[in-house]
Amino acid sequence: MRVEELLSAIPQKKILGVLPSYIEDIAVDSRAVQPQGAFICIKGYTVDGHDYAQKAVDAGATLLVVERELQLVGNVAQLIVPSTERALGLLSARFFGYPSEELLMIGVTGTNGKTSVTGILHNILMGLGKKSALAGTIGFNLNGTLYESANTTSDALSTQQMIYRAKEERCDAMVMEVSSHGLALGRLAGVDYDVAIFTNLTHDHLDFHGTMEAYGNTKGLLFAQLGQDLRKDKHVVLNADDDWSAHYEMLTPFPVWTYGLHSDADFHASNCRYEDGMTHFTMQTPEGSYDVSMYLLGEFNVYNVLAATAALYARQFSLFEIVQQIEQLPPVKGRMEKVHTDLPIQIFIDYAHTPDAIEKAINAALPYKGENSKLIFLIGTGGNRDKSKRPTMAAKASVADYVILTTDDPRYEEYSSITGDLAKGMLHEQYACIGDRAEAVRHAIHIAEAGDIIIFAGKGHEDYQIIENTKYPHSDAEIAIAEGKVKFV
Ligand code: ADP
Repeated sequence: MRVEELLSAIPQKKILGVLPSYIEDIAVDSRAVQPQGAFICIKGYTVDGHDYAQKAVDAGATLLVVERELQLVGNVAQLIVPSTERALGLLSARFFGYPSEELLMIGVTGTNGKTSVTGILHNILMGLGKKSALAGTIGFNLNGTLYESANTTSDALSTQQMIYRAKEERCDAMVMEVSSHGLALGRLAGVDYDVAIFTNLTHDHLDFHGTMEAYGNTKGLLFAQLGQDLRKDKHVVLNADDDWSAHYEMLTPFPVWTYGLHSDADFHASNCRYEDGMTHFTMQTPEGSYDVSMYLLGEFNVYNVLAATAALYARQFSLFEIVQQIEQLPPVKGRMEKVHTDLPIQIFIDYAHTPDAIEKAINAALPYKGENSKLIFLIGTGGNRDKSKRPTMAAKASVADYVILTTDDPRYEEYSSITGDLAKGMLHEQYACIGDRAEAVRHAIHIAEAGDIIIFAGKGHEDYQIIENTKYPHSDAEIAIAEGKVKFV
């Protein structure tokens, strides 16, 4: 691509050296640099791309995008910008020809529910005959093939590459999880969203953002990013039961659609009932009410389905057809997903790893608990990450009859330090601290009796446990089934 054309994407820049007239490719990894390529120096958590600039030049890079001038040997121009991560988004979008403008782009942000809402949207769109791509924690799903991703929101170059691939595969839509990290780091610069959805904001990631206010304001960047061009058919979907929504509403000139259970929202659910392994409710909409029955469990999924419905309605999909699709939705992987077994107990796998999600997951299971049976809840937290949420997580877990406190990717932290912090928040004595997660899962089966419900929380779709810096294969469901077969035979 012509460099002049490429650089028109970046408003603020200083150029050192003589610019090449063309570049062949863009790279953020010096090992992937092509001759005549551009290398963007990104500061990561562990490495700083600026340290690899000379390697990139040696590999043939003729243009570097940097945050400070570098002393290098070789014939290379340097473009100095305030944020290389943001520049990467803008350059990649330009390089790939602004692919997001050609798809229906839906972004979902919030503390909990991003994977669920994006998965629900993706499935409804596909059910309605639209070709949809899906990007988020679980990976990048294109044409039914799942490509792994390292983070909820990929780096700006991979993000634009994914959107470009979706466009090339003639997708109609792309649904994306938008994390606060991705927004804070500018990874989504250059993505043109048509609909932005907010799920909720509760305690998480304060090790990264510092305060809830900073965290909330970062999420707001998604709504500000929609821009101000009122000729575009853009929409915002907000959770009317969350106080942050009022703040986000002020950030956008585009139509806002609200949803909720406790408020007078545009999309409002009432009469929620949890029976026969299903969820039933009445959905009030701007065009009348619908009785909905679905396999997704729990009140939180009622919120998630309302959010997805509002987004699709805003883009003129038929409510009648959306509701038909909702009734057929499969469970989202690892989100209150029932494990089908012959055991006389009910087992759910869930991804709850924040206080709010724990409360929601337990509430989702309680209606299915018999009078004389127990709800056993297993929860762990990650080592060397936000420690302040640990006691509150355990306090929320205390609603269960018996709680098992364990680890969820302990990394370099001692097991007892993690379970000890959790234990400080327990509100009753019916609990055990077992740092080894496999052992903890087995303990849950040991104390279970016929009719009990067990929720294994925190791992969700993940099939590993990180100890120090190694990923070991781990599946709560497999361990539980194997142990259950021994116990209940
Ligand atoms: P995220 O992708 O934002 O982490 P997920 O959809 O993966 O969210 O859900 C994570 C966990 O949070 C689920 O396993 C469930 O326990 C809970 N959850 C899902 N949706 C919601 C919601 N709308 N509100 C609160 N908790 C939710």
